[in-house]
Amino acid sequence: MEELVKRIQQDGDVLGDGVLKVDSLINHQVDPELMEKMGHLFAEVFANRKITKVVTIESSGIAPAIFCARQLGVPMIFARKSKSLTMNEELLTASVYSFTKQVTSTISISRKFLNESDRVLIIDDFLANGQAAKGLIELCQQAGASVEGIGILIEKSFQDGRQLLEEMGLEVVSLARIASLKEGEVTFLEADA
Ligand code: 5GP
Repeated sequence: MEELVKRIQQDGDVLGDGVLKVDSLINHQVDPELMEKMGHLFAEVFANRKITKVVTIESSGIAPAIFCARQLGVPMIFARKSKSLTMNEELLTASVYSFTKQVTSTISISRKFLNESDRVLIIDDFLANGQAAKGLIELCQQAGASVEGIGILIEKSFQDGRQLLEEMGLEVVSLARIASLKEGEVTFLEADA
């Protein structure tokens, strides 16, 4: 997506260790117009997959996921990273190692929100080593739901995430694909949409 690539070039900061900071449009301050366009693009790309739920993980996946879900006319579910006192029902859970925070956390979704008739589109902000997406896939598998595709805003193609997900037979659609973040420079591959 050309607009996202331009915004990354304009506003993104390359931190050490292969991390891209985009906290003026995605991860802290959020650009609603851009989020809406990206959510709608995912809805268009996965239109023929009969999606019944859009699933993401808190917090930065929520904005594009909600616009996508609204466009598809289905609910959006975000996996929680910490257990809330109000989550007193049966939970689907998985362990996820966070690339940026370097800690393992348990993510969860209430069992009542996903079932074997669901066809899920997973959305997230970044794809690095694929651990967040893998955790979300595990939650869907526990519910017996099928994962119909994965929509990613920014894929860091120099890490293993895409390969991991494609080896699971899943279609990954990334709106920006980063080839390298070396020496403070962002270089891009051709995006999927
Ligand atoms: P993965 O689980 O694929 O290794 O990493 C994806 C998760 O880590 C995303 O949900 C995102 O929150 C975070 N992440 C990974 N790489 C980056 C990065 O370069 N910049 C930012 N802002 N977040 C990242």
